[in-house]
Amino acid sequence: MLILITNDDGIQSPGIKALAKAMKRVGEVYVVAPDRERTAAGHSLTLHKPLRIESLGRRAFSVSGTPTDCVNLAVNEILPRRPDLVVSGINRGGNLGDDVTYSGTVSAAMEGTLLGIASIALSQLGEAHFHFETSARFALRLIRQVRRFGLPPDTLLNVNVPDLPPQAIKGMRVTCLGKRIFDSNNVIKKEDPRGKTYYWIGGNRVAWEERKDTDQEAVENGLISVTPVHLDLTNYTALAVLRDWEKRLTPVRRRTRPTRRL
Ligand code: MN
Repeated sequence: MLILITNDDGIQSPGIKALAKAMKRVGEVYVVAPDRERTAAGHSLTLHKPLRIESLGRRAFSVSGTPTDCVNLAVNEILPRRPDLVVSGINRGGNLGDDVTYSGTVSAAMEGTLLGIASIALSQLGEAHFHFETSARFALRLIRQVRRFGLPPDTLLNVNVPDLPPQAIKGMRVTCLGKRIFDSNNVIKKEDPRGKTYYWIGGNRVAWEERKDTDQEAVENGLISVTPVHLDLTNYTALAVLRDWEKRLTPVRRRTRPTRRL
């Protein structure tokens, strides 16, 4: 099995090293990751400047781009053949609920999914210390399962692991994405040493809506959260409501007058 590993914390991150080490037990591992931290890069693709690939070993490459760039270059240029699996992480910190839309970690798995490759995003919650061994150990078991049963079409797995050592994990839950309560104080405004105003986004701790079976609820209860995420962003329940608009917003056709010849 050929496994492509990437992340958004950069190729030097301890999380990607822990993941690569674990994955070597189940397959041939290639690491293709950003040359620096790209956290919150989202699903961005570099289109307006050249990208450089640097070889850091036989199967390790850094890329001067985003996680999405890495998956593209890996699949189309670096790897000897199409990978069987893309694993992104282990991210330093959770990627829960709405945060998946900002996440470079999850976006790399989205890119893998778009290319038709089974993909998993792994995030380890924590503060100063991160129990990457907990994520790595679970990843190994999960990948054996994925290899055996495959994944539903167009679906990636977003995995979040609680801030606990492996023996303290209470179990695993299949979850939905949670919903943040957005705080209007989320932007911090300060002054720099030269008296100019600057802003800092995302300074505050976030609160979550009370919902059942969410990823956030699972990790808070010591359970590993696995959320199936699909890339079709269509809101199917809204289709019926909005179809009523079709008639109202259809332009009224006027009878066309013959254009006068000059
Ligand atoms: Mn990150």
